[in-house]
Amino acid sequence: MILFKHSKDVKTYLKSTRETGNTIGFVPTMGALHKGHLSLIEESTKNNKITVASIFVNPVQFNNKEDFIKYPSTIEMDILKLEQSGCDILFMPSEDEIYPDAKSKQKHFKLGHLEEVLEGKFRPGHFQGVCLVVEKLLAIVEPGNLYLGQKDYQQCLVIRKLISLINKNINVVICPIVRESNGLAMSSRNLRLSEEEKDMAASIYKTLENIKGKISKENFAALKSESIASLEYKGFTVNYLELADRMDLQIINNYADAKTRILLIAAYLNNIRLIDNLYC
Ligand code: AMP
Repeated sequence: MILFKHSKDVKTYLKSTRETGNTIGFVPTMGALHKGHLSLIEESTKNNKITVASIFVNPVQFNNKEDFIKYPSTIEMDILKLEQSGCDILFMPSEDEIYPDAKSKQKHFKLGHLEEVLEGKFRPGHFQGVCLVVEKLLAIVEPGNLYLGQKDYQQCLVIRKLISLINKNINVVICPIVRESNGLAMSSRNLRLSEEEKDMAASIYKTLENIKGKISKENFAALKSESIASLEYKGFTVNYLELADRMDLQIINNYADAKTRILLIAAYLNNIRLIDNLYC
């Protein structure tokens, strides 16, 4: 694996790959890598000549300063894991490389409904920050295939929208959520949970599974309020628990209101914000 810190070097290296018609798969991350990230790398190595990963903790997508400051960093382990997973290139830019001046942070993306609901509503400006960095990374790597995790389902739809807004021909591959054996969705933020909190955090997935098992035409409202009450009794603070159409994240109230459905949740356990989702 080759590690690059400067975008011009990545571009030069990848130019010949592209010119010989070989495909490039790209996995953008913020580091503190776990098996979820590595599943994206493995998927990319199966279908592309070159797999590029990036590690960049993007300051502009954090609407909470403390979350940014406390974001875990395990660089040496990350490099080892990427190498073992068959990643070819790691791009690890500095903040100045991505945002050389104030102007480079100023673009606005028309995301519409996608940034008004769910994560968009509870994390104002978050998806603008995501688009800002992803547009820059895509311009540097120019991948044919982009690998994203269903764990951040709304982000997947936002990035698909970004790709259409900037007229790029990039195939987005959404990879399944990798979970701990107790069902907890793997996340870099889980490093901040104690063992006891990790056990408790699995209640989030169990709640989604329980709703999926019981949902029928018109009972979602009741299941939602019971589930929120039960989680809050256990000490969670629930930001949202919603049923939505998987295609566009329009919130639906009844099971029958859409053919492709997804349950989405965000909740705090102590100071750690956790998200999860389940197709249902
Ligand atoms: P992050 O480093 O959190 O920005 O995540 C980088 C990529 O890994 C994103 O596309 C995430 O959706 C994906 N990812 C994070 N956690 C998981 C997981 N548990 N399973 C699958 N993909 C994941």
